[in-house]
Amino acid sequence: MKEYASVNACDLTTMHCGGTIATLYEPETKEELTSLLGGLDAFVVIGGGSNLIFSDGLITTAVIRLGKAFSSLSIEGGALHAAAATPLKALLQYCLRNNLSGLEFMSGIPGTVGGAIAMNAGTPDKGIMDAVLEVEYVDGTGTHVVKRDAIHYGYRRGGFDSRAVVTSARLCVQPGAPEEIAATMESYLLKKKNQPGGFSSGSMFRNPPGSAAGHLIEQAGLKGLRIGGAKISEIHGNFIINDGNATTADIRSLLHMIKERVKERFGIELQEEVKIIDERL
Ligand SMILES: Cc1cc2nc3c(=O)[nH]c(=O)nc-3n(C[C@H](O)[C@H](O)[C@H](O)COP(=O)(O)OP(=O)(O)OC[C@H]3O[C@@H](n4cnc5c(N)ncnc54)[C@H](O)[C@@H]3O)c2cc1C
Repeated sequence: MKEYASVNACDLTTMHCGGTIATLYEPETKEELTSLLGGLDAFVVIGGGSNLIFSDGLITTAVIRLGKAFSSLSIEGGALHAAAATPLKALLQYCLRNNLSGLEFMSGIPGTVGGAIAMNAGTPDKGIMDAVLEVEYVDGTGTHVVKRDAIHYGYRRGGFDSRAVVTSARLCVQPGAPEEIAATMESYLLKKKNQPGGFSSGSMFRNPPGSAAGHLIEQAGLKGLRIGGAKISEIHGNFIINDGNATTADIRSLLHMIKERVKERFGIELQEEVKIIDERL
């Protein structure tokens, strides 16, 4: 297992902010992962860091990132076996190359298979858990496999215990026509073309029932509002963009302000979708 000291959190997340991670562990086998988890009181697991930000300052909580050995794709018994550290982009490219249909709706979503499962990432009406047959995870006691029916997932919630590290999943795919798969992927990618670029974590808030967080933020007149190096995107109200100099404190102040203003204006309490890792909370 690799172990890194004093890692810059900015380098691990797509928001590019945060302080210094005291220790980053990179296990390469399930056995290493099991014994690591068994010995830790608290830890945070990170995938592609596209929905997660770390606090400023020193982060003493152990951070775990699955090593390269947890990145693989194969067809097994008609299902797609995807190891957790596999980038979603590689998953989609594999489907395209092998004429596999069923996961096109994940096109353009950054991050890894493990992070996507933990978040049940997807479109507003479909998440990756809808395509899962079973998930393998490791905790301090060993390796477990659970079928989808036994997992209590929901909107942007994979349904796993915070001490469970997803290590792989079997995903439901069907043979498809290559040009249809490519066209469907392209249609999902096109929808993402109007999302803002730059350093961000994607949508900062979950959509409240029957509404869209971005729309509420826009209606509250908050687009373009800036604190320090963090700004609410002019293009999409639910995106906060780091101009390269934002601290996590800047981003949290904006999140706080958005929640207050949306509550005042519409009586709706927005809930963060982005995970903020702060051991002082
Ligand atoms: C530009 C942009 C666009 C986006 N568009 C979308 C979108 O359309 N739809 C959508 O749903 N999301 C979207 N996201 C958010 C994000 O990409 C997804 O939530 C993604 O699946 C997170 O994967 P990750 O590997 O980056 O997870 P991370 O950000 O690293 O982690 C997210 C959460 O998952 C946990 N986690 C990570 N890996 C594991 C693991 N192996 N086992 C257990 N828990 C784990 C972390 O502890 C954390 O709580 C977007 C983000 C960006 C930056």
